[in-house]
Amino acid sequence: MEKSVAQAGFELARFIEQHPRLWVITGAGVSTDSGIPDYRDANGQWKRPPPVQHGDFMASLSVRQRYWARALVGFKALREAQISGAHQALAALEAMGFVELLVTQNVDRLHQRAGSKRVIDLHGRADLVKCMTCHYQMMRHAMHSEMARMNPAFAVLNATHAPDGDADLETDFSTFRVLDCPRCGGILKPDVVYYGDVVPAERRQAAQAGLNKADAVLAVGTSLMVFSGYRFCRDAHAMGLPIASLSLGVTRADTLLSHQWRAPLTPVLTHAVKRLTLGQRALDTHGLPSSQNRQGASRS
Ligand SMILES: [Zn+2]
Repeated sequence: MEKSVAQAGFELARFIEQHPRLWVITGAGVSTDSGIPDYRDANGQWKRPPPVQHGDFMASLSVRQRYWARALVGFKALREAQISGAHQALAALEAMGFVELLVTQNVDRLHQRAGSKRVIDLHGRADLVKCMTCHYQMMRHAMHSEMARMNPAFAVLNATHAPDGDADLETDFSTFRVLDCPRCGGILKPDVVYYGDVVPAERRQAAQAGLNKADAVLAVGTSLMVFSGYRFCRDAHAMGLPIASLSLGVTRADTLLSHQWRAPLTPVLTHAVKRLTLGQRALDTHGLPSSQNRQGASRS
């Protein structure tokens, strides 16, 4: 294991040196080290019931009652999550100038908390809530506090945390009181792109513009099973860009990949950052890349 992590880290560092303007796409795997559960197994298959669909959420009060009652319990996992070594390593790569853009499919804002600045939240952010009628916005925690006051019996429940701030809670949700928009009475929804929903066009275009400036794609911790993320890899492949993937499992883009490391994210990324730091230091000192790069990792 040790050896394969070091080897993958070495290869990843070399990939980054050869393609120093990366378009990075991340997924749930980056945040599982932060204690946020994910939906899919190593084969990219659902390991639990799929999340709520946009159409169902909008059409049915009982779906929203169930959603918000479970979120009162499960959102703690998102709120209390701490950044992982993978988030830190990706922020370090940006600070070193290797990241043109980081597009994340996660809605937890952990990349920003780790210090990444060139980030697009492709699927939105879970800490914001929007009115679907008048676009009024409020912070998620404020909405939760209000609903906890409105539903004291639900606020004290406990259950296993599930992905996306959900929880494995099953009970009668019909008495749960959902908070409506304080301005117009419309339906409030997390500012998150649900299944069956579309990524806003300007966000998709901003991600595409970053891809046009990049010289490679690095996918980290994502199975790329969701089309809104996969499409960029398909486009990158059509543009002739190399695509590398670091994740524990298979990806939908496996046949498009030029490099693939099926390995734990944090140690491999950390290893690669260490090597690249040494390489940059060697450049700073001698004006030339280190000729001893192969032994370089042990000289820190
Ligand atoms: Zn409203």
